[in-house]
Amino acid sequence: MEFSGRKILVLGAGISGIAVAGILKQLGAEVTLSDTKCQDEIKKDLAQLTAKGVVLALGKQDESLLDHVDYVVLSPGISIYNSLVEQAKGQGVTVMSEIEVAYQLCQAPMVAVTGTNGKTTTTTLLGEIVKAAGRETVVGGNIGRALSEEVLPVSKEGVAVAEISSFQLEGAIDFRPHVAAILNLTPDHIDRHRTMANYQLMKEKIFANQTAGDYLILNYDDAAVRHMAERASSQVVFFSRCVELPSGIYVKDGVITIRWNGDTTKILPVEDVTIKGAHNVENALAACGCAFFLGVGSDIMAQVLRNFSGVEHRIEPVTQINGVWYYNDSKATNPESSIKALEAFDGHIILIAGGRDKNTDLSEFMKLAQERVDHLILIGEARARFFDAARQAGLASVEQAEDLVSAVGLAHSLAKPPQVVLLSPACASYDMFANYEERGKVFKDLVHRLS
Ligand code: ADP
Repeated sequence: MEFSGRKILVLGAGISGIAVAGILKQLGAEVTLSDTKCQDEIKKDLAQLTAKGVVLALGKQDESLLDHVDYVVLSPGISIYNSLVEQAKGQGVTVMSEIEVAYQLCQAPMVAVTGTNGKTTTTTLLGEIVKAAGRETVVGGNIGRALSEEVLPVSKEGVAVAEISSFQLEGAIDFRPHVAAILNLTPDHIDRHRTMANYQLMKEKIFANQTAGDYLILNYDDAAVRHMAERASSQVVFFSRCVELPSGIYVKDGVITIRWNGDTTKILPVEDVTIKGAHNVENALAACGCAFFLGVGSDIMAQVLRNFSGVEHRIEPVTQINGVWYYNDSKATNPESSIKALEAFDGHIILIAGGRDKNTDLSEFMKLAQERVDHLILIGEARARFFDAARQAGLASVEQAEDLVSAVGLAHSLAKPPQVVLLSPACASYDMFANYEERGKVFKDLVHRLS
């Protein structure tokens, strides 16, 4: 796809939109960056862009923005159902997402990871494995910097490891990763995609252009994901935590094993994988599968899996005080995520939960908490509802704390080995913090002060 000399409208002045506007301008396109927010609301310095010659169209958007436009490029935040986007399509303008631009510009083979949960962990882990193998590696996509910016400097001998969301896939056109992985699929983002079927369809775009020389790593244990194999033109490779597969990546006698073309490779015992929980075994299996088809050796995969302690705010070990480990799982903003964290420990948990209530059903979460949590400490707007649900589920020790400071203090005064203190809120953070990252950082600071 040629960008030079084209008239391009970039929609959404977020991280990806700003980056891709600058890149397209550098490539010789005539670029307008538009957002319904005005400059003050955007809170980012756009002066560098205007200095490069990018035209800004902030505030009210209308049809005139589409005059003579060849391409519309979407930030992940802009839906394909946006009225301006629908108008553009109606006029025959090519609409694409920022990852499509990244794909077009990327010289290196791309490995793309998607799924409802586990994307960041798997992508980061895979990036570490590929780096440890000595390959020139970039990691990007839904994490941190824009993929289009990340992939630019990588040569064709390198590897681009990308975390890809369903939002980014909406505007994929030729996007064709050499290796793609789909971790799982559960209802999410239905407000944006309108139906579950549509959400699944967007996820499937990750392999829609793959051909026989490409690989598609699918979770065999997830029925919806398993059945995607029926629609793939690439070589399907299943991974499974639960069953021994005739071919693929699985656990045999407690060891992560890859069987492909009749050859069997043992990677390492599951118990040696540092990241905790069954869900992380799945992430490790998927990462090993991707790495295998990039030609990475089993010893390197094993070494990284032994040393990788996970991504910040996801069951992140903070420190040990008087024999008690403290874990920060601030990313758990709903009960399903907190369930994963509770399942990762054999009981003896002092759990700090609560925050902004999403009014989600708490029955399964509290049932598991009743089995595994010694003391539950509740904070935030949700604490009263969580308190009632905990009592109903029969939890013996439930306390309400004023804030995170008192909750950590209380946890510290109660905790004795072999107990662990776990912050896994099952709630959003916005009642007390700017975001889950800030909540996790405050928790870690408080814990470090205890020690
Ligand atoms: P994402 O980038 O898809 O949001 P993360 O790696 O950031 O995923 O993990 C977010 C949360 O999702 C974790 O805290 C955990 O609770 C849950 N999770 C992670 N991996 C999986 C998985 N493979 N299956 C189910 N849930 C998972």
